[in-house]
Amino acid sequence: MQLIDIDGVVASPSPNFDARAAPEGHAGAVVDTVILHYTGMRSADDALARLCDAASEVSAHFLIEEGGTFHQLVAPDMRAWHAGVSHWRGREGMNHTSIGIELVNPGHEFGYRSFPTQQIECLLRLLEHLTRRFDILPSRFLGHSDVAPARKQDPGELFPWRHLSEFGFGLWADVDRNDKTILAKKAMVGPEITALNRSLKNIGYSVALSEEFSQMTHDALVAFQRHWRPETVNGYLDGGTKNVLDDIEKQINSHEKLIMKISEDDT
Ligand SMILES: [Zn+2]
Repeated sequence: MQLIDIDGVVASPSPNFDARAAPEGHAGAVVDTVILHYTGMRSADDALARLCDAASEVSAHFLIEEGGTFHQLVAPDMRAWHAGVSHWRGREGMNHTSIGIELVNPGHEFGYRSFPTQQIECLLRLLEHLTRRFDILPSRFLGHSDVAPARKQDPGELFPWRHLSEFGFGLWADVDRNDKTILAKKAMVGPEITALNRSLKNIGYSVALSEEFSQMTHDALVAFQRHWRPETVNGYLDGGTKNVLDDIEKQINSHEKLIMKISEDDT
């Protein structure tokens, strides 16, 4: 395994990887997305042991400990097995096109806590390195819960998405987010729910364009809140969530148009 050129990187090779396949419409492999995780285990050693055990069939490219020690498990040009069954903007199997980064944190099951400054500073150094090497636009920094909302909660509402966005990694909505008036909730049916489903789908989530506020709608909305409206994660479309949703949809659409334009220029 070739180590990336960042001071302090520790080689902890995992056998759990294979080749990246080219996504539809591309001749070769593409790396254009970063997916962030928390380990969700009691200790860093437990997490590292699992990610490097052939029997587990899971891995990530990188793992960052709470104190900032960071490990490379898989070379970025190979496919690590971190996202599982996943979806974003019509693409399935996000492992093929993404870099997976695990942040050590016990997670919601074992005592979820804030991500320490040293850990986030290390992550920022790694992201700076990766964005020099790969074309990763700000709209393509995602959480595991974004690409698998029915199964996953990580990296969760304590992850500092806003701070990352200040460095160009991910998007943030500077809009009024305090309105708690409930506009829509589970089991409601109507054209305004179709509009909600369309917004979630336009952003990237896997939801059906129906008139129903389904379980899928709920899961996607909770994932959206964990990422972009973390102060209230409740699965309701309230006034604040709607403001943030509209703003993020607009930002993602303009970034994705840019991606389409870049790939047209390539051909
Ligand atoms: Zn994960």
